[in-house]
Order: sequence, then structure tokens, then C-alpha cells
Amino acid sequence: MQAEIIAVGTEILLGQIDNTNASYVARGLAALGINVFHQQVVGDNPVRLEAALREAEERADLVVVMGGLGPTKDDLTKQVVAKHLQRELVLDEVAMQNITTHYQNSGRSIGNNDRLQALYIAGAQVLANHNGMAVGDFIHQANWTDYLVLPGPPRELKLMFDTEVKPALQATYQSTAKLTSRVLRFFGIGEAALAERLETLIDQQKNPTLATYAKDGEVTLRITASTNDSNEAQRLLDQVEKQVQALVGDFFYGYGDDNSLVKVVVEKLIKHKLTITAAESLTAGLFQSTLGTVGGVSAVFPGGFVTYAASAKQALIGVPADVIKEHGVVSSETATWMAKKAQQSLHTDIAVSFTGAAGPDSLEGNPAGTVWIGLAYRGTSVQTKLCHFSDDRQMNRWRAVLTGLNMVLR
Ligand code: ATP
Ligand code: MG
Repeated sequence: MQAEIIAVGTEILLGQIDNTNASYVARGLAALGINVFHQQVVGDNPVRLEAALREAEERADLVVVMGGLGPTKDDLTKQVVAKHLQRELVLDEVAMQNITTHYQNSGRSIGNNDRLQALYIAGAQVLANHNGMAVGDFIHQANWTDYLVLPGPPRELKLMFDTEVKPALQATYQSTAKLTSRVLRFFGIGEAALAERLETLIDQQKNPTLATYAKDGEVTLRITASTNDSNEAQRLLDQVEKQVQALVGDFFYGYGDDNSLVKVVVEKLIKHKLTITAAESLTAGLFQSTLGTVGGVSAVFPGGFVTYAASAKQALIGVPADVIKEHGVVSSETATWMAKKAQQSLHTDIAVSFTGAAGPDSLEGNPAGTVWIGLAYRGTSVQTKLCHFSDDRQMNRWRAVLTGLNMVLR
């Protein structure tokens, strides 16, 4: 099953808005086991749109066209798709009623163009728009390419995709084989490196299939099995996961789409009744704020310290002045003392410390992205780690937070 996405809109073409709809749809399709092989962007131009449709349907089993369903005169997508498929446009009574009600409620009269939004392509399954007025279409053609026509505004597109498109695709394509997937989460390895280590497996595996995905410094791997037998699906997933774990298990930390490193860390701390605090310099509270995103963290996190300037490291937690003077703030020693003193101040089991140069400037001769992270565990000696991040300031700070979380986990 191969899909192609066509985003319609001159403002996307000109770079005035980002094509976030394409990412959303591509991810959504991947989760259904449908691979996207090509994407196109085309302006609000009927001739070029039709050319794009012709090109796409030659190579794809499903073409997704997004944008241009609205009431203005540059919104021509539905008309172009209908013409291309030699089908009529038909009025959807329910959608028309919604539009009428909408205008009645706002005390305005319906324009002729507004009716266009209630039209669907003959023979299509109508996709309701719960966040707007233009309906979408799903056209299933037994021996030819299928079409999805979706609205452009992201809040309309997303809701329609989740509530209308997914069930429609599942019902149409998965009657023969059901897709079951398992998501594995990794930290400390980039997407490219992960894909490289799994290259042979990814290339050779047809069922289950494997797909990597990177976001916000974490990498996930989705393993998708296609079979109707749920025991068989689990057996296939287990088998491939075993091979994956053998290759990259060192970086694995958890399962699931909605999971995250901080969630796994906090759950583990709660389970083992271990309390945590932090002393943060370059991250300025980001680590603690991230802990705070997980419900129930108060059971293990009493509070902590933002010790940005050297003077605050001394005044708030008592890092000795001569340690900073002798070794500098960007040093293993300062990270050690920060963690140790933070832990002693609040009597926690664990304390994490962050000190370094977030960027863009260097600090004490250390290039931007040089970060020392300290980890104090009860009375035992403090472990420190030196990191060299090479992103911008915000991403360097975020990578420091993730690295700190990962040190707590291991
Ligand atoms: P409308 O009724 O708002 O006209 P429409 O279905 O005709 O809806 P467009 O006119 O193509 O959609 O786009 C409406 C708005 O939706 C755009 O101005 C843009 O902000 C957003 N949008 C359109 N396409 C995309 C896309 N591919 N990615 C992200 N945002 C988009
Ligand atoms: Mg429009």
C-alpha cells in the first residue's frame, strides 16, 4: 500500500506557512501501516493541480489531497478532483443543514459559495467536518487509485483525520489483515544511527515492518505486524523486538506512543520511593519544570534550586567559592559540588546538577554546548558526565535535561 500526499495552497508553495498537515497525515498513515512514498505541494491552480493528480495516481494506491475546500474562489480542490475522476458534485444534506444553522445563528445570509462546502464527490464516503463546514471525501475505486480530499485548516484536518479518515481506511484496507504495532523508545542514539544499526533488519523485514521516527531529541521505532490472528501478531512483534533489542537495546528505555523519558523516570522513582532534587545552572529550572509535567511527581520531588550565577551556587546551596575559583563553573568539580550540596540541602536520595555553556557564546573557554551533568546518589560518590551538544541554545538546554533524565534512569 503506497500513498502520496498533495498539499494545495500557494502560501505553502511560497513558504509563508509550513506544511504541517503533510507531517500529520504522513505520521497518521504510517501508524495505519500505509507508507508515503511521495509528497507534492501545488499552488491554487487547477491545471497544475490536475497534473499533480495524474502524476500521483500513476504511482500511488491512495492519493491524499489537502486544502482548498473553502468558500473562496481560489478553493477549487473538490471541483478539480471531481472533474479529473469524471464525477459529479452532490449536495450533502447534513452538511448543508449545518451551514444553514451556522449562518442563522450568526444572523448572516448564506452566500452561493458557502454551499460549495456541502458538496461531495459522487460515490464518495462523506467525511464530516466537526471543526468547520467543508466536508471531506473518501473515494474507493476497486481497480484504480483511491482518493482522500481533506480541508486545509489544521484543526479541521486533524480532527477529520482522527475521527473520520482512520476508521474509513481501516474498514477499507484492513478487512483482510489487521495491523498491530508496538512502539519502542530510545534515547542516546540518533535516528540515523539507529536506522543504520537496524538497516538489514529494516530492509529485510516485510512483516512486521519497521519505521523510525525522531522528535525532540528522542527516537522511536514502530514495529507493525499485519495479520488477523492477534496471537500471531504478538509472536511476530516479539520475534522482531528481540532482534532489535539485541542490536540497540542499550538505548531502549520504554514502550508506547504517548510515553516519554521523563514519564518513565518519574514512574521509576515513584515505584522505588526515591526522592529527587536538582541544582540547575544553564538549564535554569527546565529539568525541574520537566519533572513537573508528570502527574504525581510531588511524591518524589520536594523542590530544588536554580543556581545560575556563581554567587547563587554559593549562596543557595553552599558550593565552596574556591572550588569555582580553582576549576571554573564549567567543570566536573562544580557539577559534583552542586549535586552533593543540593542533595544535602533537601535530604533527597538523588540530586542532578547542570552546569555549562548553553550557547551561542562560549564560557570560560569552553565552546557552546559544553555541559557537565552531575548525579549524586545518597551518600555515595557523585558521578559526572561531560557532554558536547551542537545545537542551538534551546536545544542544547533540552538535550542536557534529557541526558540528565537518562542518567537517573540507568
Ligand atoms: P478555508 O475554509 O479556511 O478556506 P480550505 O480547506 O480552503 O479552508 P485552505 O484555504 O487551503 O483550506 O487553507 C486554509 C488555511 O489552512 C491556510 O491559510 C493555512 O493557514 C492552513 N493550511 C492550509 N494548508 C495547510 C498545510 N498543508 N499545512 C498547514 N496549514 C495549512
Ligand atoms: Mg480556502
